Amino acid sequence: MYSNRKMTSQTQTHDLQQLLQSSMYQTLFELNDDAIWAIDLEGMIINVNKAGKSIMRKMKEHPVALNELIIFHDEETFFNGMHLRDTQRLKGIIKSESKDNMIDISSIPILYDGEVIGRFVQAKAVDDEISQKNDSKVANTYWESFINHSADAIGLFDLDGNIIKLNQATEDIFLYSREELIGSKVVTIPDESYRKEVEFLQRKVKSGKSVVEYETVRKRKDGKLIDVAITYSPIYDEDGEMIGMANILRDITERKKSELELRESEAKYRLIAENTADMIRVITVDNEIIYISPSHQMILGKEVEDYPSGDVFANVHPDDREELSTNYNEMLHKKQPINIEFRERHSNGNWIPLEARCMPVLNKKNEITSIVMVVRDLTERKDTEELLRNSDKLAVVGQLAASIAHEIRNPLTSLKGFLQYFHSNGDELSKNYYELMLSEVDRINMIVSEFLLLAKPQVSKFKETQLDHMLTHVLTLIDSQALMEGIEVNVDMDEDLPAIFCDENQLKQVLLNYTKNAIEACSYGGKIQISLRKNQKHIHIIIEDNGCGISEDDLDKIGTPFFTTKDNGTGLGLMISKKIISNHDGTVTFESEIDKGTKVTISLPYQ
Ligand code: ADP
Ligand code: MG
Repeated sequence: MYSNRKMTSQTQTHDLQQLLQSSMYQTLFELNDDAIWAIDLEGMIINVNKAGKSIMRKMKEHPVALNELIIFHDEETFFNGMHLRDTQRLKGIIKSESKDNMIDISSIPILYDGEVIGRFVQAKAVDDEISQKNDSKVANTYWESFINHSADAIGLFDLDGNIIKLNQATEDIFLYSREELIGSKVVTIPDESYRKEVEFLQRKVKSGKSVVEYETVRKRKDGKLIDVAITYSPIYDEDGEMIGMANILRDITERKKSELELRESEAKYRLIAENTADMIRVITVDNEIIYISPSHQMILGKEVEDYPSGDVFANVHPDDREELSTNYNEMLHKKQPINIEFRERHSNGNWIPLEARCMPVLNKKNEITSIVMVVRDLTERKDTEELLRNSDKLAVVGQLAASIAHEIRNPLTSLKGFLQYFHSNGDELSKNYYELMLSEVDRINMIVSEFLLLAKPQVSKFKETQLDHMLTHVLTLIDSQALMEGIEVNVDMDEDLPAIFCDENQLKQVLLNYTKNAIEACSYGGKIQISLRKNQKHIHIIIEDNGCGISEDDLDKIGTPFFTTKDNGTGLGLMISKKIISNHDGTVTFESEIDKGTKVTISLPYQ
């Protein structure tokens, strides 16, 4: 490597030797404790001081070039920097007999006439002790820097609680300069009442315990109060004796503020949840219901205890459960809100149709923390839908009825007239047939009349009418049929029944429909009880029979057009009756048990 280097001129080496002879260099050179070699620009040793010689003596062969003596950690840098006018600092190892010694190397340029003509290479031993000292010095520097750059205020106190040392952050947080604080006891407390707290905390520390993240309030120089968390700990010397206390004080004003904001917004949402008509549920990912809004009580008659842990869908209709849980799991999987419809059991046993929006609540890591369900009661909507469907049917029926009824009625009238003519003139045998035909024509006529009534409710003629008179009249109409079927009809009326404002003919038809149904429901020997009762505002007409009763399923269908269980029924009677009653601002309810009988209650208002 050397041979490749540029040859130093003879004059330069001569100058160097001359230079080194001069007394100024001699003293500095010879009397230095560190080993120093003077080398020319090729790295050949020109001179060496005392300390250097003593190292070289320990070597078997006398080295001539510096790199026979020293192994540089970075030889390249050393030789490349040879001509530079800077001092280079490097590390290396000095070979000696016993062991290799780590050294710090300073390579100092030797200048002559402003030119670099060689270098002094100074070696400083890096023994263990020195390096240790250096380490701890470095460590101390680290500590100091760390403490000074910490965003938390850090302070050291003596055992009397006097401030000895504070870091930079203390100034930043409290706006006091360190000089103002050091030597004093705590002046950042908001008022004297806090001194007891400080003394209490310091007493605790003095007893050898630490105080961790104690939250309290402190005052800045400008008077502003800040929320802080303080950690106190005792400081011990090498012998384990307590010599002071350290405290780390964190400004948590922002955190407190956001905590407060969080609490406030929680309160706000709770207020909404508690007061909305919709039901709100909060469910954990482990299927635990942690909140249900009070509206559950109103709509489903349920409390949070009614929702067992681990099974959110415990109250769901068995037929809906599978679809619901499939959708629910998909929501958990996709982390997207879903809408679902299902039924849940009311505490009274009824199934309530519900519609729910399930929303996963995600945290910053996009993990689901909980699920919020907003559940709405669909009963009313379902009822309206049902009503709409029925009224659809009604509209169609109405149109059909109007046209058909007219078309059929006219030919029927002439059919009936001719049949009656033949009937009165015919022989005995054919008379029976004519009778049968006439009754069939009557039946057609009846159906058509009912249709017509449906299509165009006849012009109502409302007037004050006594219900008891009306009932008596209707009873004369059905008495004969009842008698024939062996059915007993009893009537019971309250006294002084008020008159009601109604269309007599229409109400008669209603009574006829219900009593006829009652008779048809009873077998031979049945009983029918008709009662008229009044209360403050209504008259109730109650028609009870002990007939076949109505099944739960059929009870739902009652009053819908064409619903009949009879072979020759029209399924229109109840529908028309219902319509008439509601035209009179009245209501009708059915109670029925299969094979026990049916109770119909018509309620009509009076002035
Ligand atoms: P229809 O009498 O022509 O069948 P309705 O509208 O009058 O038509 O009655 C509809 C259905 O309601 C009947 O077919 C019957 O199943 C049921 N129903 C009505 N009243 C009673 C009753 N008192 N007891 C048992 N079933 C009844
Ligand atoms: Mg009927």
